[in-house]
Amino acid sequence: MRALFLAASNSKWLREHGVRAGFVRRAVSTFMPGETFDEMLVAARALPAQGLASVFTRLGENVADLAEAQAVADHYVDGIKRIRFLGLACEPSVKPTQLGLDIDRASARVHLQAIAAQAQAAGRYLWIDMEQSSYVDVTLDLTEELRATYPGVGVCLQAYLHRTRADLVRMLRIGAGVRLVKGAYLEPPAVALAQKSDVDANYIGLGRTMLDDRARGGGSRIVFGTHDTKIIDHLIRHARATRVPAGDYEFHMLYGIQRGEQARLAAAREHVRVLIAYGTYWFPWYMRRLAERPANVWFVVKSVFDGGRRR
Ligand SMILES: Cc1cc2nc3c(=O)[nH]c(=O)nc-3n(C[C@H](O)[C@H](O)[C@H](O)COP(=O)(O)OP(=O)(O)OC[C@H]3O[C@@H](n4cnc5c(N)ncnc54)[C@H](O)[C@@H]3O)c2cc1C
Repeated sequence: MRALFLAASNSKWLREHGVRAGFVRRAVSTFMPGETFDEMLVAARALPAQGLASVFTRLGENVADLAEAQAVADHYVDGIKRIRFLGLACEPSVKPTQLGLDIDRASARVHLQAIAAQAQAAGRYLWIDMEQSSYVDVTLDLTEELRATYPGVGVCLQAYLHRTRADLVRMLRIGAGVRLVKGAYLEPPAVALAQKSDVDANYIGLGRTMLDDRARGGGSRIVFGTHDTKIIDHLIRHARATRVPAGDYEFHMLYGIQRGEQARLAAAREHVRVLIAYGTYWFPWYMRRLAERPANVWFVVKSVFDGGRRR
């Protein structure tokens, strides 16, 4: 089932037809407040009342046109200015291939620098997403280059990759922020753990290393991007045992997923951010959300009937 949805996420035909289907659009609204920056802002502005901060990301990947990459960079720069103006505790998260990495690495680097400069001026941290395994080296190199000028930059690492422990050590050594996730793409066994139980165990091992580094006074921002309550509870227990105070590590979760857990953690004074995605290019991203939890297909089925009732 997971492989099926991840294959669908790469289908151009499904993407073009899927986004037009009313029932798919209704189903995706569970995970996305809307397609525009303004709709994202409405959702982000409602979160502080619940003790939650936010991260924003405009959906898009593998941009194949330099003008489009420039437009994406301008969008983020402008978005950061608006967030600063509103005084909102919201941080940008970007995908390098959305900034034209597939076409020209040098111009993707220039775009990242422009976004990082604006984020630094606004006192906001910049997160860099991790995409397929073929992009890991270049993404880490870009992160390291950026950090030389803009220290407030962190990167996502994926627990399903065999290589991640070495990458984590490298990022902790340079003080880069790390957002640890399980990993959302279809990867071959040569590069990624195939069993979910192995990914979960590796996540816990890597998460403990991140907390241990923090306990030793490491300067990296430590973020656990997961909705897995068992892993969250394990890491909180480890933080307490190693005297790492809440606030020295964070949990980031996706908008619309585990809302009860987000509220529970915030009420327990843990630091939680909600990543809000928006934009028109949501189909591959939505397929990855279905792959994570095939039970989500029921939202799609339900929305067919809800739409039918409305008609
Ligand atoms: C803030 C954040 C940033 C991310 N950035 C990246 C990135 O840059 N690169 C990347 O490869 N991946 C990224 N991901 C996705 C990540 O790799 C996982 O695919 C995703 O988080 C699901 O894994 P999990 O840790 O929640 O654990 P799982 O074991 O998949 O889920 C644990 C529980 O959480 C709930 N849950 C999880 N997913 C869903 C869902 N889609 N719908 C409903 N309930 C769900 C279910 O109750 C499930 O039992 C990100 C995730 C988060 C939270």
